[in-house]
Amino acid sequence: MSRKRKPPVRTEFSFDHQGEELAYSKYVSKETGRIDVLMVPRYCFRACPICLEPDPDVAEHVPPESLGGRVMTWTCQKCNNDFGPAEDKLRSFIDLETTAHAEASDGSVPGKRAAKVAFRSSDGRPNGMFIRSAATGFDEIMGSGASRVIVQPLDMALVHATLLKHAYLAACLTNREIPRTAEADEIRAVLLAARDRDTDGLNRAQLALGFEPAVGWIEAPDAPPILLTQTKESGELHWIFMLGGRFVVQWPFRDGAPAVGRPVADEKHQSLDAGHADGDRE
Ligand SMILES: [Zn+2]
Repeated sequence: MSRKRKPPVRTEFSFDHQGEELAYSKYVSKETGRIDVLMVPRYCFRACPICLEPDPDVAEHVPPESLGGRVMTWTCQKCNNDFGPAEDKLRSFIDLETTAHAEASDGSVPGKRAAKVAFRSSDGRPNGMFIRSAATGFDEIMGSGASRVIVQPLDMALVHATLLKHAYLAACLTNREIPRTAEADEIRAVLLAARDRDTDGLNRAQLALGFEPAVGWIEAPDAPPILLTQTKESGELHWIFMLGGRFVVQWPFRDGAPAVGRPVADEKHQSLDAGHADGDRE
């Protein structure tokens, strides 16, 4: 677990707290002026919100740490560790990073050579194909003028499952409750299949849920890691999360709204800082 000091959450997006538990604040968007947002509180549940095993004890970042997430709750060891590869896919998605195979169609270099490539630069350079690492011969094939490149598609099922995981955790935190509805069970089935790298199970669970929560992409690197706000589409207001200043993800429960302006289920009010592993220690 990293002991590295993290920079404080950016303050360019300033908040004016009003009220108590779930305070409405004013979020000043550089693009659109003022909009209402809800601060999502840290909270700890009696059970792991993903697998429902009791007494979770590992610090969980929401959104993932690589997206600037902070420790917001606890999950169990298995859910925390085994979700790592799926979360790496989200990072790859940001840079459009995948594997490419190159082949010289004139036979000047025999066979296929692989490389890890990205189509979006994370350092602000114009987009293009960036080679992150390549097998011997890849560059030679690319320079031969007779190259055929096959790019492996991104694993979008895992990208969506990871976004769903973080929208789900953020929604549980907002309501301070792990919902025990049929829909929440379907969401957890998606998360468990992604955690266990069960490709068939993931496809089945995603079909059963019938809902892809990712609704957009933003470039707001200075935004706080997690925001709940509203958007108006086709005349209707929708609750959305902004995660890591990158993703806009719909509120994941169609059969349950954010606990805004009503008392929330207070199943366990406990400090996240006392006596537990915490990767976010400052
Ligand atoms: Zn768990």
